[in-house]
Amino acid sequence: MYKINTNYQKLPGSYLFSNIAKKVNAFTEAHPEADIIRLGIGDVTQPIAPAMIEAMHKAVDEMGDAKTFHGYAPDLGYAFLRDAIVAHDYQARGCDISADEIFVSDGAKSDSGNIQEIFSVDNRIAVCDPVYPVYVDSNVMAGRTGVYDANTQMWSNVIYMPCTAENNFVPEFPKENPDIIYLCLPNNPTGTTLTKDQLQEWVDYANRIGAIIIYDAAYEAYISESNVAHTIYECQGAKTCAIEIRSFSKNAGFTGVRLGFTVVPKDLVCDGVSLNGMWARRHGTKFNGAPYIIQRAGEAVYSDAGQAQIKEQVGYYMNNAKTIYTGLKDAGYEVYGGINAPYIWLKTPDHMTSWDFFDFLLEKANVVGTPGSGFGPSGEGYFRLTAFGSYENSVRALERIKNL
Ligand SMILES: *Cc1c(COP(=O)(O)O)cnc(C)c1O
Repeated sequence: MYKINTNYQKLPGSYLFSNIAKKVNAFTEAHPEADIIRLGIGDVTQPIAPAMIEAMHKAVDEMGDAKTFHGYAPDLGYAFLRDAIVAHDYQARGCDISADEIFVSDGAKSDSGNIQEIFSVDNRIAVCDPVYPVYVDSNVMAGRTGVYDANTQMWSNVIYMPCTAENNFVPEFPKENPDIIYLCLPNNPTGTTLTKDQLQEWVDYANRIGAIIIYDAAYEAYISESNVAHTIYECQGAKTCAIEIRSFSKNAGFTGVRLGFTVVPKDLVCDGVSLNGMWARRHGTKFNGAPYIIQRAGEAVYSDAGQAQIKEQVGYYMNNAKTIYTGLKDAGYEVYGGINAPYIWLKTPDHMTSWDFFDFLLEKANVVGTPGSGFGPSGEGYFRLTAFGSYENSVRALERIKNL
């Protein structure tokens, strides 16, 4: 009789978004006239800009002609895209990363979930709390996280690094040494980030204790402050301790077309074994390449027109972020994030729980957000609003919140 991977049964249900949907449905049934504004959305809403659409059209036509048809893409990505990534995202920032350290993929979720499999199950992971849930859940599936305590919402073998207003959302080095450290910067859900100097301290720490940093930079395009690093490789010594994961989803609106990449420097060597070689082996065995059409769209992101167009889109979302951030401040809320990320993180008023505030906002303002407790135990007492909606709705939602 076959047996299943029982680690999957340890996963607590992902109630967050289904619970939100249930509550919103129940409310609209009771109040069919209510004009609900959704600021909980974690997906882009602006259409893909013309430079990328044009590149895709052209690539589609190539696929229909025997002379220009493309079959399987190279496992690690086409050279035209890897070269563009290296030139714009790394060499232009003074980082010595080469094309054979770039692994093109179908997105940052796959990579951030899959990367753990090249490490021993004996490794202990550390995560910021709250954070994007994929890091912990993928390690649960692999059997690396121990036992779940439903009361504390914590795993016995995971090191949690609380990021709250008390420490200014800067994680502290844990008491026990982790082996794998996940950093998501700028952070989803708090919208906060570290300065380059603070990130350098993490790089030094990882090198000192022999840990590896998995650095998820999905929101790199939203960085507006000059003292924030756009890639971890701006920090000295990062090539010997960090893997970086990037995405075309939030900067160029590719959530529905799928494209990302992971950087595994050749300097990452553990007991004489190259992690770059391991990830190449894994990619070659389990992934058959991102589509040619989409990689051409990715290349167009780096063209002059593409850069100008995505800058405008990110600017649109960040204007929403500013509107939400300043509106909440004016209304007397304690607000964080929104400066280097499309997320606004607020402290719930009057010590309400995250879910109580969710109900309050839905009922009194007909605005939907995301309870902070859904992203980790230290998210309790906080609430996430996103800038991915329309400007009009961001303004209307804030007017309602101010009038509460
Ligand atoms: C949205 C998001 C991703 C997912 O990116 P895809 O490339 O669309 O898979 C990864 N990490 C974080 C932190 C995100 O918020």
